[in-house]
Amino acid sequence: MRLHCSPWIFRVIFAILLAPVLPPIAQAQVIKSGPSSCPGVALTFDLCPVRKGTGYAQALVDYLIEQKIPATFFMSGKWMARHEQQVQALLHVPFFEVGTHGEAHAHLPLHSTEEQKQEILGPVRLLKTKYSHTATLFRPPYGEFNDETVNVVRALGLQFILWNVVSGDPDPTITASQIEDRLKRFVRKGSVIVMHANGKGKHTHEVVQDLHEHLLPERNLTPMTMSDLIICNGTAAP
Ligand SMILES: [Zn+2]
Repeated sequence: MRLHCSPWIFRVIFAILLAPVLPPIAQAQVIKSGPSSCPGVALTFDLCPVRKGTGYAQALVDYLIEQKIPATFFMSGKWMARHEQQVQALLHVPFFEVGTHGEAHAHLPLHSTEEQKQEILGPVRLLKTKYSHTATLFRPPYGEFNDETVNVVRALGLQFILWNVVSGDPDPTITASQIEDRLKRFVRKGSVIVMHANGKGKHTHEVVQDLHEHLLPERNLTPMTMSDLIICNGTAAP
């Protein structure tokens, strides 16, 4: 059957049948979780710029290091500019992974393709030139993006990382047990949990401790870096 000769009704039927199986191309590039067969989770911590305070959850990071918990950090360029020592420290932990989180924490969809490119490239360049580190992961500020964002990220050879479990840790009105209840509801094989290590999460340290001591061992889930989670094939990382 030649499509251009089809009566309009066939076109409508084709459109209905094909719509659910053909998601927008852009969506295919966005990673929200690991494989559902993987007995691992990614604990991810955004380092968004802050106006007040130290901008760093030192006790949380110390705990992750002491307990040898793999974790992934998404650094914004503005945050890096004020935390040189902490950038070095995080890069030196072998079970940590470092990705980027835009230069100025911009609302990307409000910007042109070229502006988005510069915003995304800021911390990627800084990590390369100043720290000799090639960052391959990118997480958009606020989780906001459009098709141009996805195209730019792909053209730059980066992986586009979102999440599928929101801890809500920067919300000053929620308690640690409310966050823990939410994690109990949503954490499963392949989950990517978004939290913060810029000092904005009042209960993040306590929640991570609870995850490590209770929720994850109870569910036989192992923390992995984001890159390990993506390639996880159903067996826990060594
Ligand atoms: Zn952020």
